[in-house]
Amino acid sequence: MAIRRDEAIILRTRDYSESDRLITFFSRNQGQLTGIAKGARRSKKRFVHTLEPCSHVAVTYVDRPTSGLVRLDASELKNAFIALRSDIARLGYASLSCEIVLEMSPERQANAALFDLLYQYLEQLELAVEPENTSLLFQTRMLHLSGYGPNLQGCILCGQKLRAGGNWFFSILQGGLVCNDHKHGQQPYPVSLGTVMLLRQAQQLPLAKLWRLRFQRQSRQECRFLLIDLVRHYLEKDLKSLKLLYQIGALQPTDSR
Ligand SMILES: [Zn+2]
Repeated sequence: MAIRRDEAIILRTRDYSESDRLITFFSRNQGQLTGIAKGARRSKKRFVHTLEPCSHVAVTYVDRPTSGLVRLDASELKNAFIALRSDIARLGYASLSCEIVLEMSPERQANAALFDLLYQYLEQLELAVEPENTSLLFQTRMLHLSGYGPNLQGCILCGQKLRAGGNWFFSILQGGLVCNDHKHGQQPYPVSLGTVMLLRQAQQLPLAKLWRLRFQRQSRQECRFLLIDLVRHYLEKDLKSLKLLYQIGALQPTDSR
C-alpha cells in the first residue's frame, strides 16, 4: 500500500455509508481518483470544509492495489474559491466544468495540463465579468487537452481548407468543420470564420494568455451549445449541472438542438 500526497480539485462528493463519504477528485499527478473518507459524515471536524466540490485541496491517500477506491486519510484546504460560492451563475459554471472533467477524464490517467487548466479556470471565474466567456474558453481547451478537440483546419469530409468566403459549419457527428456541400445530415452549426479562428487560438495559446480571449456576441451565440453538445455527444448523456444554469436563466435550453 502506497501513501501518496498530491494536490487535487474535488469533483464530486456522495454519501457512502452511515458514516463515510465517497469523494471523487482530480489530482495533478494521478488524474481522477475516487476515495472513501472514513467518518466524514459523522465527524465534521476531520474534513471540515475540505470536501466541497470545486475546492482545491492537498490530499493524503492510501492507494490499495486490490481496490479501485483509495482511502482518503486527509484533505487540507488550499483554496475554497469563496467568490464562486456566493454567486449562483459563477457556481453554475464551476459545477459544469467539474462535471465535464468528472465525466470525460478516465480514472488514474494523469493529465497535469488539464489540472492546471481547471485550477486556473476556477481562479479566473472568481474574477470574471462574463463567466460564460471564461467557461467557453475552458470548454475549448479542455476538449483539446483530452484528445477530443475538434478539427478546425477545413472540411473533414472533403479536405477543403478553411478560407474566407463561403459558409462553414460545425458538425457534432464528425467532431469538426464541414463545408457547405457536406453539411447535410451532419447536425450542422453555422460558424463564422472569426469564431473558428478564436477556437483555434483557444486550443493553442499558452495557458496564461488564454483568458484574454473574448468571445464577442456572434461567437458566443455560435458556441453557446456547440461545445457542450459535443461533450454530450461523446458522453451519450446529458450534463446535470446545466439544469442550474437553465433555472437561473444563464442559459436557455431552447438554444440547444
Ligand atoms: Zn466538404
